[in-house]
Amino acid sequence: MGPTPTRYSGGREPRRLIHVGDNRAESPQPRLGRPDPHQPSQAASFGEAAPFAIGHGTDVHRFDADSECWVAGLKWDDTLGLSGHSDGDVAAHAACDALFSAAGIGDLGSNFGTARPEWANAAGVTLLSEAARRVRDHGWAIGNVSIQIIGNRPKIGTRREEAQAILAQAVGAPVRLSATTTDGLGFTGRGEGLAATAVALLYR
Ligand SMILES: [Zn+2]
Repeated sequence: MGPTPTRYSGGREPRRLIHVGDNRAESPQPRLGRPDPHQPSQAASFGEAAPFAIGHGTDVHRFDADSECWVAGLKWDDTLGLSGHSDGDVAAHAACDALFSAAGIGDLGSNFGTARPEWANAAGVTLLSEAARRVRDHGWAIGNVSIQIIGNRPKIGTRREEAQAILAQAVGAPVRLSATTTDGLGFTGRGEGLAATAVALLYR
């Protein structure tokens, strides 16, 4: 007999040879994100080589009449300040947590918390800039960060562009900033504090 006849599996470019009468590819490619369930060792590294990663962060601070209000890298003269280990900038802190989470390098507490006194009272954008540097040190590029502030004040919309520019400069990538209220409900609705959530997209 001569050599086994072959055909291409289709598509614009031939990628895999398939033997006629045999549906299996000659060299099955590993399917990203689908480790073989019979090989638990593959599950342990699930997705570690993926070219993208997202991370999520949340931060909350209590309003404090004795502090200045720094939110999203800006000083807000018409709003009570926020208490905390640093300036209480919930937007910057949530963004830091999102970046750390996406890169898998801990969180705000493990990177800048009370066990790291050198970061005490650091400005939120200073922490954000350092978080972005650490993420890049771990081989990631930053696609963008999206932050949502939850609370009655400050009125983010009045200075959104200014805040986005400052945050983007700290991150070295686009930062989108939005805000919402909670219809008077919860601690943000009662004006007791301010919250923020953020997501970050990394690639490599
Ligand atoms: Zn915070």
